[in-house]
Amino acid sequence: MVHVEPAHLVELALRNTPPTDDDAEALRHVERCDRCRDALRMMTRVVTAARTAELVDLPTAPPERVWHRITQGMSRESAPPRPPPRTLGRSTKRKLLAVVALAVVAGTVARRTLKRNV
Ligand SMILES: [Zn+2]
Repeated sequence: MVHVEPAHLVELALRNTPPTDDDAEALRHVERCDRCRDALRMMTRVVTAARTAELVDLPTAPPERVWHRITQGMSRESAPPRPPPRTLGRSTKRKLLAVVALAVVAGTVARRTLKRNV
């Protein structure tokens, strides 16, 4: 049985584009396959959580002293980088959180896939 690629499951969970014939075929497989159904369910939950996250749920910028130490350490080797912006917009934070969440999901799926294939 050929399973749905993790990247395709992520796309299905995101639902950012109109469904294609490949999506329909993948969803038919998901209906019959416990493994892919569990993976899609987990990714969908992560996407939903990321999309409904409130600003208070998101990490805050580190204290100024942390950035100062980083720039001091790097300035010994090269020119110091510019500090990050003090605040991120709501949309940027949500996108960042979604990317982090999807990276976690992709890593989990990849680990599970590797375990099953070993
Ligand atoms: Zn499958």
